[in-house]
This record gives sequence, structure tokens and C-alpha cells, in this order.
Amino acid sequence: SYTDTQIEAMKKDDLRYFLHPTSSIVDMESWGGPKIIEEGCGIRLKSIEGKTIIDCGAGLWLNNVGLGRTELAEAAKQQMEKLSYFQTFNGYSHPLVIETAKKVAGMIPMDNPRIFFTSGGSESNDTAYKLARMYWYLQGKPNKHHIIARTKAYHGVSYGAVSATSLPGFWDGFRPLVPAFHHIEHPHCYFCPWGKEQDQCNLECAEALEEKIIELGKENVAAFTAEPIIGTGGAIVPPDGYYQRIHEICDKYDVLFIADEVITGFGRTGKMFGMLHYGVQADIMMMAKGITSGYIPMGAVGISERVFTPIKSHGIFMHGYTYSGHPVACAVALKNIEIVERENLAENARVVGEQLRSRIRDLSLPCIGEVRGIGLINGVQLVQDDAARIKFGPEIGFAKRVSAIAWENGLALRPLMDDGLQLSPALVITETDVIELVDKLGRSIKQAY
Ligand code: PLP
Repeated sequence: SYTDTQIEAMKKDDLRYFLHPTSSIVDMESWGGPKIIEEGCGIRLKSIEGKTIIDCGAGLWLNNVGLGRTELAEAAKQQMEKLSYFQTFNGYSHPLVIETAKKVAGMIPMDNPRIFFTSGGSESNDTAYKLARMYWYLQGKPNKHHIIARTKAYHGVSYGAVSATSLPGFWDGFRPLVPAFHHIEHPHCYFCPWGKEQDQCNLECAEALEEKIIELGKENVAAFTAEPIIGTGGAIVPPDGYYQRIHEICDKYDVLFIADEVITGFGRTGKMFGMLHYGVQADIMMMAKGITSGYIPMGAVGISERVFTPIKSHGIFMHGYTYSGHPVACAVALKNIEIVERENLAENARVVGEQLRSRIRDLSLPCIGEVRGIGLINGVQLVQDDAARIKFGPEIGFAKRVSAIAWENGLALRPLMDDGLQLSPALVITETDVIELVDKLGRSIKQAY
């Protein structure tokens, strides 16, 4: 444990030396420094002040098996001692990367896939876009390089990924972005951009893809990319039939479908992968986060036979990261996936996710609007008026106030865009944990209101 003087010095050093990713420097300075976490076990964190806090977001939507699993530490240690690193470029391989590729290939919803490894989600996304463009280039269609994504999408921050992303702030100061990325309106029934009620819906959100392809010319469009369930943009589940229609449109215009399963992979949605809810197969699939539960950085890309075949004929995919197929990451991924399967964590996510949403609805607070989600990818919409669907504001002011109070009440809670709250705990959460979490959440919202 630390003394008050040590804690203060640490916070000062953080402000002095560390540039945080996507963190308000103004906020951190006003708090006198960041919130410092020292330990974690299961779904709970311990701050350096010795306070126990429930991690409502599983880090950044990634910790599926819970914190502090000795098995994973052992797997990493053993592999570090045996072979800490060797390259997978230039025709080299090692037993665990082969085993991990085989394991992942066998579990993703894709026939006969190849697996490419990365260090995280942004790299997986950039890899997918390059694969899509190369696929069409190798068919003699180099103009077919435009990629359509959606508003509220988050695909990462490398230049390709941030160009596909469409959330406030991520483009400021970084333009020009990679050309030839386009966006259509995302699906969200509660705030339907077409102002439709459910009984009037003609899946305008899916039809928007066809309109965009026609506008750009099908001979110019390489791919459409989507998170099966929007994560950072608000934990938004699409309406029934959405992906079936999207898939039909992609087929009709010869456009690849690329699924970003970085959050939704490895059990979080109540099935092993998000697209399994929709019965639609992607041509390329991005993974990261839950593949190692964040114990070590890793990402992967699933490549369908269709996309791989011309690349195989071409003879080389001239793209790779130093850490592609890192042996220690593979050791951790294999053990992590073993735990997800052994403990049936996807099923737990399905069951406990329903309990979580139901208990939040039962709070019956006037400022809680839509409680949305599937499995353990959930959002709570804070509203001034639920019936009229009026938000507090375009920013995240109210959600931020709730989160600040929630921290005092023992919850690490992340505000989402448009005054939402993210609830995506580790998949090992129990009903008893949910009761405690929802009690603290309800108290925090009432205090903030
Ligand atoms: N794709 C999705 C759907 C994500 O949620 C994220 C990160 O939150 C990324 C990609 C980017 O992943 P990374 O931060 O590992 O680069």
C-alpha cells in the first residue's frame, strides 16, 4: 500500500510524463491526476487508495475470463522461457502459432479460413482493408477500392481504421484521412434516423447501403464493414433482418462484407461470435481484445477462401507486423480460449446479460431510456424524456456526472457518446455481482439527477 504522499507524487508524475490515449487532460488535471488502479481479480479492481471497484467495462470491452487468472500467467511464463520470440516473416513458424491459427480457424463462422495475426484491433482493421483492396486489384479491378462503413462506427485509430471510424473527435486535427472511406447511417431503432416506428420499418438503414453503392458505382466499391453490434458508438443492436439484407446487397453488387468482431468475438454477445446471431458469413473478419482477454496484446484476421485464393495465386501478402503470431501471445490466446470454452462463458454472458438489463429496467428511473444490448455488450441511454426520446444533450455531460459519482460508489463506469453508459463486464460476472452493480448504478444515477 502507498502513503498519501506517495500517491500524490505518483499522480504528479503521471501528469508530468505520461500522455494518455483518448483521455481528457483537462479532466485529469482537475481531478489532481488520474485514477490509478493497482490490482484486479475477477470483475473487481483495487485502486492505489485501497478501494475495491467493479469494472463495468471489462477494461476496454476485452476481459472475457476476468482478471488475475494464474493459468494465463503460467502459460505466458512457460512460453517466455521456451521461446520468447521468433519471427513469422520469411517462412518461419513455431508450434503455438500453428496451433492458434488452427484453433481460431476452427471456431469462427467462416468456411475454410486462413488466419493472419496482428497486435490489436486497429492493425486487424487495416489488414482487412488491405486484403479487400488487394483482392479486387488481383481481379484486375484496381478502381474497386472504396470502403463503406457506418456512422457511430469505431474501428480503431491507425490511419485506415480511423478513416472507417465515425465518432466525434477522432478526425479532428488528423485530416486528410485515407481517401475512399464512406459512411452510411448506422441502424438504431430507438433513435431511428428515418423517424420510423418499428411497424413502419422497411430496413431503411440497410437499404442505405444499396443507395451508397449505386452513388459510388459498384465498380468502385470494394467492401462494406460493420461491427456486428456497435460497441463504442453505443452498444447498439441492429433490427431483425438487417444483416440478411446487408448480405443480399453485398452479393448483388459484388461487394465484400467485412465484420469487425474485435469486441463481439470470443463469447461477449452470448454466442462465440457476433455474426452467429445473424446467420451471415463475412468474407473477412477482424478479431482482437477477447482473443487473449487483454492479458497480452493480440489481434487476428479471418480470411475466407474467396479472398485468400487470388492472394495465394499471387504468391505473397506483402504486409505484416513484427508481433504477428507472437509466441507468448499465442500461448495466452490458446489458454484463454480454452477457459472461455471450458467455463461456457458465452452462455454465462447470455444469461447474466439478460439479468443485468432486466434489473436496470426495474430501477424504473425516469432518466433511463433505452436499456439495450445482447449478452454482455450493453448500453444504458440516459434521457430527459423517454417517451419523446429527448437526450440531455449532444455531448456526454450527464453520463459523465453519473460516472464520476459511480466511481465514488465503487464502479468504474464509462460514459458513451450521446449520454449513454457502457455496461460490458467480464463474462465471469454472476447474478450476485449484477445485484451489487445495479444497486450502485441506480444510486449513482439518482445522486447525479
Ligand atoms: N474495432 C473495434 C470494434 C473496437 O472496439 C476497437 C477498440 O475498441 C478497435 C477496432 C481497435 O482496437 P485497438 O484499440 O486494439 O487498436
